[in-house]
Amino acid sequence: MRVNAYAAPAAGRPLAPTTVERRDVGTNDVLIEIEFAGICHSDIHTVNGDWGPQPFPVVPGHEIVGVVAEVGSAVSTHRVGDRVGVGCMVNSCGECTNCRNGDEQYCLQGMVGTYAATDRDGTTTQGGYSTHVVVDAGFVLRVPEGIDPAAAAPLLCAGITTYSPLRRWGAGPGRRVAVVGLGGLGHMAVKLAHAMGAEVTVLSQSLKKQEDGLRLGADAYFATGDPATFDELAGRFDLIVNTVSASIDVNAYLSLLTVDGALVNVGAPADPFAVNAMSLIGGRRTFAGSMIGGIAETQEMLDFCAAHGIGAEVEVIAAERVNEAYERVLASDARYRFVIDAATLR
Ligand code: NAP
Ligand code: ZN
Repeated sequence: MRVNAYAAPAAGRPLAPTTVERRDVGTNDVLIEIEFAGICHSDIHTVNGDWGPQPFPVVPGHEIVGVVAEVGSAVSTHRVGDRVGVGCMVNSCGECTNCRNGDEQYCLQGMVGTYAATDRDGTTTQGGYSTHVVVDAGFVLRVPEGIDPAAAAPLLCAGITTYSPLRRWGAGPGRRVAVVGLGGLGHMAVKLAHAMGAEVTVLSQSLKKQEDGLRLGADAYFATGDPATFDELAGRFDLIVNTVSASIDVNAYLSLLTVDGALVNVGAPADPFAVNAMSLIGGRRTFAGSMIGGIAETQEMLDFCAAHGIGAEVEVIAAERVNEAYERVLASDARYRFVIDAATLR
């Protein structure tokens, strides 16, 4: 079927209305009528060419929530009318060690991204800034009742990308967690770490969003633009989650860790980081990275959010405002995730 969408025609060019072809519903597929699609900074990195050449035209969008419109004959996990979500991947080999361990995002054959990737049938994937999508049932999540669908969409990327490292590095009672950058990922990290019982500090460029940060669950809020912050917080945190979309002074942040503390990077800037050996060895510190999360873990995150009444803070926009939203994300001016209302594409 041919469906309406918004696509970037070439690197760095504004997105514009178009149509894309969705495959017929195969035996293991789910056809989703999209309700909402979040705008992730990764969409912007991709269409701006930060991560190298892309198969343009690209329809971005990997924070998708919608309703099941049709299922293939072999699908028993989802039914017509169910509210479902799709995140950053739509396929993987299913057979390698990582897939079998539930780490499909690290599939040894390469996981298939929701857009700008080559699917296992050889076609190029197109993402969620669209009215419909067809996805293998194994990559379709259940969105629990009780989470507003627009607020649920960003959980599919921003939510799982922060939930996974918070869990792995033990955010919980008695642990001091700092979140660098209060954007789409950062505001989810604050909510999730707070719900896990950790003491949460936001490290933002300025104090502009301090009131919001505290309302979202932070216990403290500091401006990284003020050099005194780094003296005051030296050696303080067990875990720092860096969500910044630009390169940061990693050594300055490593100095804020306890002995055995970890700085986990989820931001994906084009420029490399510079790490001094002394910043790590002078405190047995870890500098790590993490990419989204596996499918089972993503479901666990959605269920956790429903149990704790957590959704993203969203500004719902018509699709025609997508380019304006990109500008505001680039200016760190999203509060805190733009979400496209797919009804405006019909
Ligand atoms: P976002 O909404 O733009 O948030 C990024 C935040 O970083 C901004 O709100 C800002 O926070 C801070 N920031 C921006 N530029 C900065 C600079 N030059 N110096 C210091 N701080 C700066 O972006 P997002 O959607 O949360 O994504 C964040 C990054 O994570 C992107 O690089 C994205 O590609 C990546 N990502 C990675 C994964 C993964 O699997 N690892 C998944 C999704 C996204 P303040 O205003 O509070 O300073
Ligand atoms: Zn994303």
